[in-house]
Amino acid sequence: MKSSNYDCIIVGGGAAGLYCAAQLAKNAFFSGKKILIIEGGSRVGNKLALTGSGRCNLSNTEIDLTKYNTDDQYKLEACINKYGETDTSYYFENVLGVVLEQKGTLVYPATLKSSTVVDALRFYLDDNKVETVLKEKVTEVSKSENLFEVKTDAGETYLTKNLVIATGGITYPSTGSTGDVLKLVEVLTDKTCFVPFKPALTSLSSDMTGIKGMAGIKCRGDVKIVGSDGVIKARSEGEILFTKEGGISGICVMDVSDSVVKLMDDGDKDIKAVLNLTGKSGGEILQMIYIRRQMYPHRNCSDALSGMLLRNVTDFVMKKMGLKADKMTLRELNDRQLVDLTNLLCAFPVPVTGYGDVDKAQVSSGGFKLSKLDDNMQVKYCPGLYIIGEAVNVNGICGGYNLQWAWTSAALAAEGISQNV
Ligand SMILES: Cc1cc2nc3c(=O)[nH]c(=O)nc-3n(C[C@H](O)[C@H](O)[C@H](O)COP(=O)(O)OP(=O)(O)OC[C@H]3O[C@@H](n4cnc5c(N)ncnc54)[C@H](O)[C@@H]3O)c2cc1C
Repeated sequence: MKSSNYDCIIVGGGAAGLYCAAQLAKNAFFSGKKILIIEGGSRVGNKLALTGSGRCNLSNTEIDLTKYNTDDQYKLEACINKYGETDTSYYFENVLGVVLEQKGTLVYPATLKSSTVVDALRFYLDDNKVETVLKEKVTEVSKSENLFEVKTDAGETYLTKNLVIATGGITYPSTGSTGDVLKLVEVLTDKTCFVPFKPALTSLSSDMTGIKGMAGIKCRGDVKIVGSDGVIKARSEGEILFTKEGGISGICVMDVSDSVVKLMDDGDKDIKAVLNLTGKSGGEILQMIYIRRQMYPHRNCSDALSGMLLRNVTDFVMKKMGLKADKMTLRELNDRQLVDLTNLLCAFPVPVTGYGDVDKAQVSSGGFKLSKLDDNMQVKYCPGLYIIGEAVNVNGICGGYNLQWAWTSAALAAEGISQNV
């Protein structure tokens, strides 16, 4: 059995772990110090390589802090204010050499390839002699005196003065993220430090008759999540995608999925996703349908509305009204039915019966409580132990929010560790 001494060991070679090591490597106070990343998978940055559909939306120039979910909003705000998008973009461009480009407020590598980001981090760590061991899962950590002992499933034991847990959340477990933070640090902290992991940014399923027939259809619109009390819990706009499993997905649906998970946890059995399938107001749609009734009174409804709505959408919505869009002309619809059709197109209620599990969700909610960490992500009452990235109870909406948290928490931890040498 080999035993090695390090100044800092980082458990997990994902976005947060790699960035923390890179930040340490560039820090003059840490120069010449021994840094080790222990990664359970056969390569680093597995999940990072999947991000943004392989393009890596690594940050957002307009982070809205209310779009994060955490147990300590004030600390989160302080963290992002201290190290935010401009610091991240500066570091990527000027230290890691990655040219960035913006699409609206979303920040991407100009190559639009996530592999560019993974490679830039890898190469920088190689240049700076950061050691990495692959295919070793950390199974146990303990602390005696001022040193942490880190044991792996390969039978290795490593010693370190500073220990960073960057093991991620529970989603896409095939990438190696299996929620190990609880198992690893519970002995050094206690159970009250954890919020259970749950899938977030995920699809919603429905047992509604006929919804599977809509599989693959995409509409620009908005979604509101309404609980059994009739109150709107969350809303978002963007592209809605009907899934082959029978349900809805797309960025705006994923952004509100967190509220469905919470309602279901609270035992709510009558949750609806109310969809505007048109991207327009009811008034606009009614006017557009009236005009088409005058222009194409002889055409069946699917054909008459095909210039403004996908045929599948017209057919689906009219079927819910008990009408056949391909068998009736627009002239045959009376004014009451036109108003009902408009109302349904703009507020189509889909009963939600479930949500996508960890294999489908992009991030997890839950993790180690932010309120139990100091401003440098160090566990209060456990000097030298840091927790970063998705392992912390911080999760945001789509749009670069989650990777920004990985970079922010990693940079703050590196700053803290550099002061502890
Ligand atoms: C399909 C998909 C697309 C996404 N797209 C975006 C996007 O465009 N923009 C955005 O902001 N966010 C996106 N996200 C979210 C983002 O990828 C995560 O928030 C981010 O990767 C979290 O980084 P992390 O380093 O904390 O965790 P991870 O990236 O999950 O890394 C954790 C690492 O720790 C390793 N590990 C775990 N346990 C152990 C152990 N016991 N011992 C050793 N190693 C261990 C794992 O193998 C893994 O490599 C996406 C997520 C998915 C799944």
